Amino acid sequence: MTDWKTRTKLVHEGSRRSQYGEMAEAIFLTQGFAYESAESAEARFIKTGEDEFIYARYGNPTTRMFEERIAALEGTEDAFAMASGMAAVNASLTALLRAGDHVVSSRALFGSCLYILEEVLTRYGVKVTFVDGPDLDQWRAAVTPGTKAVFFESMSNPTLELIDIRAVAEIAHAVGALVIVDNVFATPIFSRAVEQGADVIVYSTTKHIDGQGRALGGVVCGSKDYIRKVLEPYAKHTGGSISPFTAWMHLNGMATLDLRCRAMADSALKIARALEGDARLSRVIFPGLESHPQHALAMAQMGSGGTLVTFDIAAGKEAAFRFMNALEIAKISNNLGDAKTIATHPATTTHQRLPQEQKDKLGITPGLIRLSVGLEDADDLIADLKQALDHI
Ligand SMILES: *Cc1c(COP(=O)(O)O)cnc(C)c1O
Repeated sequence: MTDWKTRTKLVHEGSRRSQYGEMAEAIFLTQGFAYESAESAEARFIKTGEDEFIYARYGNPTTRMFEERIAALEGTEDAFAMASGMAAVNASLTALLRAGDHVVSSRALFGSCLYILEEVLTRYGVKVTFVDGPDLDQWRAAVTPGTKAVFFESMSNPTLELIDIRAVAEIAHAVGALVIVDNVFATPIFSRAVEQGADVIVYSTTKHIDGQGRALGGVVCGSKDYIRKVLEPYAKHTGGSISPFTAWMHLNGMATLDLRCRAMADSALKIARALEGDARLSRVIFPGLESHPQHALAMAQMGSGGTLVTFDIAAGKEAAFRFMNALEIAKISNNLGDAKTIATHPATTTHQRLPQEQKDKLGITPGLIRLSVGLEDADDLIADLKQALDHI
């Protein structure tokens, strides 16, 4: 790994060139590799060298470029790319855990993450304890010497609550548990998770890394030991590897990742400031605002408020729908980290299936809107949001 700064790594790290010396990263759309002799086939299966590929489910030159680039960015020794964020979350846990193991997880999770912890792992005899992530006393009370891992999203969806990575890592490490962080909302640009004690960092690369809502992908970043001895055997045999085509798109996306995330975060702050104090909104939630209860933690943990702004239209669901239907620039959808600004109504879409009691607990009110801020001009976005608010 080089000691280049972020933007240099994002453009060059991990690049490999074929004998043609191509400038752009090549896409190797090949599932297999031809061996010069039976002896060299035998030698590759013994795994004599790192870049000796044998089958694309195990590894591929384009995929490897992407893995090396993201590992260098995150500051981990290694990474393994997966077919989706969920394939990455699932593998990060399932590869590690056995019947009888104990996991502690925060409660406020992306629905599919909750399914893996609540339904899949428990089906195979893993014990899972859920805690309110920001409440450190609950983490302290939940971990035991048998706790193998803790899992949490460092910023929750959709109410943008932060979990203190450093503090939870200290609690987890005291009992020898591995700290696995789903860091999507923090983005790899604002992530300092490794330095704060995270052992394994998982991204849905579908979000900011692709950045244009085209491809589904995921990645698990961690130590060489964890990635190659724990994760890889599980991941390569169970079939969730990334497509080389997606890895190639992600390599291209990464060249602009720093510029994009910073531009989105700057606009998110401007939008949050413009919305704060609007009498039609009962709350504006953005960790970059001084009014956010965890503003200091957000600055210490990410140095940014991130790229999402959540706000609550006081008049409720019908008003929220009128607002969304009146938007001219922002699109109604449910992805995030896209170049296009996206408005989501969590109560009726992403979090629709949660029982009311759970929605109340997570603060998912009928008027709540989650805005993933894109790359449009911030003033245009503010004007769009304001005119749409006039329709409620
Ligand atoms: C989107 C998302 C995922 C799942 O990623 P996919 O690429 O859709 O599989 C997991 N965790 C978080 C926090 C997400 O936002």
